[in-house]
Amino acid sequence: MWDVIIIGAGVIGASIAREISRYELKTLVIEKEEDVCEVTSMANSGIVHSGYDPKPGSLKAKLNVIGNGLFDRLSMELGFDFKRIGSITIGKTEEDLATLKRLQKNGIENGVKTIILDKEELFLLEPNLALDAKYGLLAESAGIVNPFEYTVALMENAIFNGVKLNLEEEVLKISKLENTYKIITNKNEYITKIVINAAGLNSGDVAGMVGSSIDIRPRKGEYFVLNHLNKPLISHVIFPLPSEKGKGILLTPTTSNNYLIGPSSEYVSSLDDFSTDTLTLEKVRSDANNLVKDIPFNEVIRTFAGLRAVNSKRDFIIEEDKINPNFYQVAGIESPGLASSYAIALYLIDIIKKKNNLITKKDFVPYRKPYIKLKGLPLEEKQKIYEKNPKYGRIICRCEQISEAEILDVIHREIPVKTIRGVKKRIRPGFGKCQGGFCESLVFELLKNEFDLDPLKIKYGRKNSEVIKKITKEGQNEKL
Ligand SMILES: Cc1cc2nc3c(=O)[nH]c(=O)nc-3n(C[C@H](O)[C@H](O)[C@H](O)COP(=O)(O)OP(=O)(O)OC[C@H]3O[C@@H](n4cnc5c(N)ncnc54)[C@H](O)[C@@H]3O)c2cc1C
Repeated sequence: MWDVIIIGAGVIGASIAREISRYELKTLVIEKEEDVCEVTSMANSGIVHSGYDPKPGSLKAKLNVIGNGLFDRLSMELGFDFKRIGSITIGKTEEDLATLKRLQKNGIENGVKTIILDKEELFLLEPNLALDAKYGLLAESAGIVNPFEYTVALMENAIFNGVKLNLEEEVLKISKLENTYKIITNKNEYITKIVINAAGLNSGDVAGMVGSSIDIRPRKGEYFVLNHLNKPLISHVIFPLPSEKGKGILLTPTTSNNYLIGPSSEYVSSLDDFSTDTLTLEKVRSDANNLVKDIPFNEVIRTFAGLRAVNSKRDFIIEEDKINPNFYQVAGIESPGLASSYAIALYLIDIIKKKNNLITKKDFVPYRKPYIKLKGLPLEEKQKIYEKNPKYGRIICRCEQISEAEILDVIHREIPVKTIRGVKKRIRPGFGKCQGGFCESLVFELLKNEFDLDPLKIKYGRKNSEVIKKITKEGQNEKL
């Protein structure tokens, strides 16, 4: 018998799992994919929004602002990349200035301080803006985070504190018993007192399993990724004025010094449509060119798409289900869900506490061993690390300068990493200019040898993504 079962290991399920691991509760997280952070939490802008623009009084406004404020402590405790670089929303006309002032007022109501910039101040901060940019709304508290690292860090720490994670297991059916729930997956059956639905795009389906209804529509956002550049293009998150469709086509540096340009915003019919298309990307390109001049699109190394889980109320749903006691819905978590993630966990646990007596663990450990990242370290420090472990001197990913020892470190932690993308998300081999052309086969060999895996079964990411179909040459199974 479980005390708590969390369905879904995106950033929301992982935040809840980490916060709930403070309490004496037997907790299980069930995730249908091969790894944590495989769906919406993997494909977004990575911005920790300041919170000036959600509607005052909404859960989005409240939890965005609280969530933003939690990131410094979380990144210190859990050792993931987070930078408070600030955001600037650009205006070009007097009418735009009036909108910026309205946004500023909205920010004050939400408890967020912003500064209106004139043209001179704007170009001093961001010299590469489009020449007709005239005004800016600076929100200094906005930041950027690596969403993969953040989600992995939350879940690793939750597991360290006693939570169990079952990957590749899909919840198919839920039956309400007297005071408990029976959860049936493709592999097992479980009885639990508390259920938390953090199934993102599928949260409507999971709610439907207990006779409740939550409408979720997927809305796609497509992006370009730029390589590292010799001269910085921008140093803040650059937004256009927001519209009904959302925050618009933005440009942002990433924590690894790449740049993201996007996202588009169109409803799609399939929960699995992660495709990108030329027409949409052309529109992204043209909108971005209206914000920043001379964007080096010849440095694009990848395009990708993410799906927002949009609910018709357009606010987060975080509540006990109306007809099912101790069944908690955490749904409709579109942007700013990443920024709000930890505040969502705290808010939910306060609701759970109203009905359940949660006892704090005496031995909860908030810290996680950070990864050693060679890139960017001074040469003398690198030298000391090589001397202790020569595998730090064997470079696997030349674009991102990732060594064998760094990969071995991340794959042998609390969450078993058995896919190429699982390694890529944690430590970046394959994120560089060659997009895995050189390093993917080496990562494949490392996974095969470390876990003694059948090479025919090693996947790139999700199911049906096996990397090789058959072995054609002798000697391919030899160890590195
Ligand atoms: C284009 C785009 C840009 C965005 N930009 C930002 C941003 O810059 N800042 C920000 O704050 N927010 C942003 N967001 C929003 C943010 O990404 C989401 O709010 C957040 O990732 C939602 O996390 P989640 O855990 O709810 O969903 P997910 O990450 O999708 O996790 C849900 C998990 O549940 C699993 N699951 C589903 N059904 C089942 C089942 N039956 N059994 C077991 N497991 C199941 C799924 O496999 C999945 O892993 C953006 C979103 C998009 C799409």
